[in-house]
Amino acid sequence: MKFFLGIHQPIWLTRVRDIPLLVSHRRLGHRRTLPRSVTEWALDSGGFTELQLHGHWQTNEKDYVQAVRRYADEIGNLAWAAPQDWMCEQSILKRTGLTVREHQRRTVRNLVRLRELAPEVPWVPTLQGWKLSDYERCADLYHRAGIDLAAEPLVGIGTVCRRQSSADVELIMRTFATRNLNLHGFGIKITGLNRYAETLSSSDSMSWSRRGRYIPGCGPSHRTESNCLRFALSWYRRIQTTLGSTGLPADDPSPEPLARVA
Ligand SMILES: [Zn+2]
Repeated sequence: MKFFLGIHQPIWLTRVRDIPLLVSHRRLGHRRTLPRSVTEWALDSGGFTELQLHGHWQTNEKDYVQAVRRYADEIGNLAWAAPQDWMCEQSILKRTGLTVREHQRRTVRNLVRLRELAPEVPWVPTLQGWKLSDYERCADLYHRAGIDLAAEPLVGIGTVCRRQSSADVELIMRTFATRNLNLHGFGIKITGLNRYAETLSSSDSMSWSRRGRYIPGCGPSHRTESNCLRFALSWYRRIQTTLGSTGLPADDPSPEPLARVA
């Protein structure tokens, strides 16, 4: 499984080699100049925050496409981009005032639209829902829209990172893994990941930052570790070691050293 380290600071794209990074559109969109990445990275659309703040997508599809094209061009090394999907946590549904079904319809429609506008961008279709049957319905919606998920290089599973139950997440992952989908678990929880990591092609996490809030900074420049590159990389190496010892596929590239800071 390829594991993307979620980061806040786009400048880290110029400082980290050998490990894949995940950065949110919300961290990049307002920048006049962009860093040139020395590592592979993926773009998160920042949907949870946008829907939580506004109750709808403020960024329209054309503007998002324009931004992503610019990132692909100016930052380079873009592995894939998340669409403007609609997550299905209770708190988000309350905020939008819409149903799970409507969130799913909008998620699928957005992917179709983004592909029409920018077919050259590696958009990742994302399944959204709450119960397993929701995710299955979302897969049907993609099918009806002419999108063959089994033929996609990667399919995202959304609305998994804020759940209490990792057993529910495991069931969803296992169900779609048996359909031979190449899954990406968005913002995966590390607890429980060992149980189903083999069902995933990739995942990402930023939980190092939440943990770092409670740890005193390692140098005079920062009070806590919530935004410290050294801390993030050491967390990442620990997770990789844990995952490596659970018998993940041997093709997972995890040579030592896992990361170098330029
Ligand atoms: Zn530090």
